Amino acid sequence: KKRQPVLRDVNLTLSEGSSVGLIGESGGGKSTLGRLILGLEQPDSGQVFLEGRPVQVWSKEHPGQMSVVFQDYTSSANPRFTVEELIREPLDILRLDASCAIPELLERVGLPEALRNRYPHELSGGQLQRVCIARAIATKPRFIVFDEAVSSLDVSVQAQVLELLLELKGDMTYLFIAHDLSVVKHISNRIGVMYLGSLVELAESYELNKNPLHPYTKTLLSAVPVPDPEVSRQRQRIVLEGDIPSPMHPPKGCRFHTRCPYATDKCKEAVPEFKEHAPGHWAACHLLG
Ligand code: SF4
Repeated sequence: KKRQPVLRDVNLTLSEGSSVGLIGESGGGKSTLGRLILGLEQPDSGQVFLEGRPVQVWSKEHPGQMSVVFQDYTSSANPRFTVEELIREPLDILRLDASCAIPELLERVGLPEALRNRYPHELSGGQLQRVCIARAIATKPRFIVFDEAVSSLDVSVQAQVLELLLELKGDMTYLFIAHDLSVVKHISNRIGVMYLGSLVELAESYELNKNPLHPYTKTLLSAVPVPDPEVSRQRQRIVLEGDIPSPMHPPKGCRFHTRCPYATDKCKEAVPEFKEHAPGHWAACHLLG
């Protein structure tokens, strides 16, 4: 089969203790990037470094220091394990003492100890995702990837889990992947916007929300619900035509040109450079600058 790169020219730096959000539609390459950063996939070219070491080497040198929480909590949790066994497993693999850790972890994720002998099917979605989070933080990792970790939860449970993640953060570094900007902006110091395998904009969370540069980011922002009905009425919603093209056959030039309301002939031929337009604010669009 012909191989087709999913990601192209992605450059991203995460500083220690920070939280970076990645947003974009499904099929944009966010999860693939998360898997590359975790060392679960090998890039065809380019490298991922953690503290100056290639990620595969770093993770061998620092067992249990990197972790992931997936969207699908039902298939992340072995249905034959109790809550206690699920949380205990990563500790046992590293031969760490689990006896005191389990009550403490349950408390940290806001679950009563009475649940420790329950099985996944006896828990609600929110409770099970909390168990997955307890499991992910059990070995005190320094870096966690949350891959659409709250996307399948109800909005009220989402808010509780996000609150919990903010409380737990401490010195941990988060990469938070989601398709919903309103979810990411609460938890991220910086936000990267991905479209069809490329990073199209990257900025501090506040800056990106106040001053989006890329037309795709503006579209995503226009879809974020506003609680004030007056503001909401005045705001213009930008609706994109068509679906995201297949990553197997990406358009030439700017990959967004087939859906961009501002596309010109140049956009169909030339790939826009990902440039810094203000301190720390990067974007790739021919219309900028
Ligand atoms: Fe739109 Fe052209 Fe900018 Fe791409 S480069 S986002 S098509 S205006």
